Amino acid sequence: MAHTPELPDRYVCTDCHAVYAGSVTHDDGLYHYSAPDECAACGSASFVPFDQYVNHEVA
Ligand SMILES: [Zn+2]
Repeated sequence: MAHTPELPDRYVCTDCHAVYAGSVTHDDGLYHYSAPDECAACGSASFVPFDQYVNHEVA
């Protein structure tokens, strides 16, 4: 079995760079994380996973 991290994913708004924890749903014994529907700060619906955001900023 693959190891599955239990920390929730985080997502970054591509417009204002606010960071959100992923929304969690529990289905069939598995946890699923997804980005918010829209940014509470600026209303954007564009998010990137935090890891990709960090890699992008560093590169
Ligand atoms: Zn935003």
